[in-house]
Amino acid sequence: MTYSGSGGELIVSGPDMALFEGTEESYQDRIFKRCPLTVGNSVTIRKLFDFTNPKSIKGHDITIGLGDRLGLASPGHIRLIRELGVFPVLAQQSIRELNLTGRTYEDVLAAAVWAVFREGYTKGYGADGDHLKTHEEVKYALRCGYSMITLDCSEHIRNDFASAPQDAIDAQYEKLPADEMRALESEYLNKSFPIDGEMTIEFNEADFKRMIVVYLPAVKHAQSIYDGLLKGARVDFELSIDETMTPTSPQSHFYVVNELIKRNVDIASVAPRFIGEFQKGIDYRGDVRAFEGEFLIHAKIAEKFGYKLSVHSGSDKFSVFPAVGRLTGNIYHLKTAGTNWLEAVRVIAAKAPGLYRELHVFALENLAEAKKYYHTTENVANIADINSVSDAELPDYLERDDSRQVLHITYGLVLQAVSSDGTPLFRDRIFKFLRENESDYLEALEKHIGRHLSALGAN
Ligand code: ZN
Repeated sequence: MTYSGSGGELIVSGPDMALFEGTEESYQDRIFKRCPLTVGNSVTIRKLFDFTNPKSIKGHDITIGLGDRLGLASPGHIRLIRELGVFPVLAQQSIRELNLTGRTYEDVLAAAVWAVFREGYTKGYGADGDHLKTHEEVKYALRCGYSMITLDCSEHIRNDFASAPQDAIDAQYEKLPADEMRALESEYLNKSFPIDGEMTIEFNEADFKRMIVVYLPAVKHAQSIYDGLLKGARVDFELSIDETMTPTSPQSHFYVVNELIKRNVDIASVAPRFIGEFQKGIDYRGDVRAFEGEFLIHAKIAEKFGYKLSVHSGSDKFSVFPAVGRLTGNIYHLKTAGTNWLEAVRVIAAKAPGLYRELHVFALENLAEAKKYYHTTENVANIADINSVSDAELPDYLERDDSRQVLHITYGLVLQAVSSDGTPLFRDRIFKFLRENESDYLEALEKHIGRHLSALGAN
């Protein structure tokens, strides 16, 4: 079996030929099959070559989610990490990203399988059904063979109570059944839990009631999904409480995992919402010192319970990367995605200025729509008018936060835009360009994700 040099098809000969879909051809007296890189053929590859199946992140200290929204980036990621002690989660998409890119979980996994097979990468990779919210969504990712389930509990976190007055908290708390209330109070109220030598987690009365009111529904949701679908399944369970209005306090982090672990939920990783701002595709915003202080407590809680801290929206957070590596003792999970799309845009800006200009104008015109899905704080007035910018300067838009955010969050609209006759406005041209300039794109990814790894201390 060989893989053609262009990366666009699989050539099979010999007895396994019948297992693949494709067209038979002959050359001299040999028969072979020319096979497209379909989902069906990727499933066959997975049956024949176990290294192409997604695997658990457990047992690997540094694991990195490298979401590939175009299905073209994974070979670059593999080339970067193959000699490093970094375990990649190559397939990683949320339902939101699937909807915005018009892809399926089958497509996303198949792209990773083909990349792994093509690069001959046998050291293992993961596949993360990211930010799943419902039983149906979790079942879908499991059915497709994903090795990691990230459960997003945000819709069950009662943010409406996060800063409610104390009497509203008390009234809501009083609705709990008496025996449940007693059990929680005897476990947490005015108790302190040692985390390591110097650190303890303490629960005073006012904080305790608020925390129960805000987080108990999320604990119950996570428990129900885990017991119903994940117990006994060989998948990594990540608990995500990060897409919420307020930072996760160390107390809330401790309480949520303590409740779940007590009930035999096997947690591989937890994503709290850290203090400061983790906006998409740009550096951390906030007080780095304050971040480090609080991050250390979260890291110690994770260490105590034996799971990994997971850092979401990890693209381009260069100013906090050193702390992420150092304070976790180099045991963590970090998720990136948008930055891999932005590297594609960077190559387009450098080598296809006409296409970039169209895409740039479209992104600005459709920004309001994109902001329904993503929280960003760009100021459009800071973005130089594209008509005043020379072709050579176009890549500079990828160096500035305001334009990065606009180009980042509009990816779905760009990829799905169609003209009045229904033909894609950009999609086909973007794919054609990136296939023709594949080595530039893969090099850009190696360099940019390489910068992430250096800052993390993972290279
Ligand atoms: Zn997240």
